[in-house]
Amino acid sequence: MITQQQLDGLLGKPIAQICPNGFISSTENHCAHFVAHVLDYRFGVTCQIMSHGRLPGVNIRVQEIFPRCPSVGVWSLRPASHSTCLVFITRASNVNLATKVMANVPRKHIGIFFGGFVWHYSNRQQKVVRQSPGEFAQHYPSPDNAMFYGSMP
Ligand SMILES: [Zn+2]
Repeated sequence: MITQQQLDGLLGKPIAQICPNGFISSTENHCAHFVAHVLDYRFGVTCQIMSHGRLPGVNIRVQEIFPRCPSVGVWSLRPASHSTCLVFITRASNVNLATKVMANVPRKHIGIFFGGFVWHYSNRQQKVVRQSPGEFAQHYPSPDNAMFYGSMP
């Protein structure tokens, strides 16, 4: 289970200090990669596959994590019980909630909602950052900033 101490320890770190497989190119998007290392999501396309690494890898694709969430929905309708969950941001039309599918488009991003904040990997700043949900909502300009929750796989 995820803890405040764990997240605090990751704040400000570049992916090079998080991924033991050396899948750290700054031309890659590491948002799902970061989330998957924190939560140990060892399915689908992993950093081990991509880097031919020697250590067990974790998932690196937002659109592969989304369908694994037991429940998903529009962020503003998030149940009160989901005080810890995953948060996604993309254009609303990229998401089909009924079939739990997120299209593979460039503008999609994922973070961890914990303790009232969103913890995510900023590819622009190349480090783990912590933002309020309101700040995270500005990660992309409209209309690519629809937010969704997903309970943790
Ligand atoms: Zn990795």
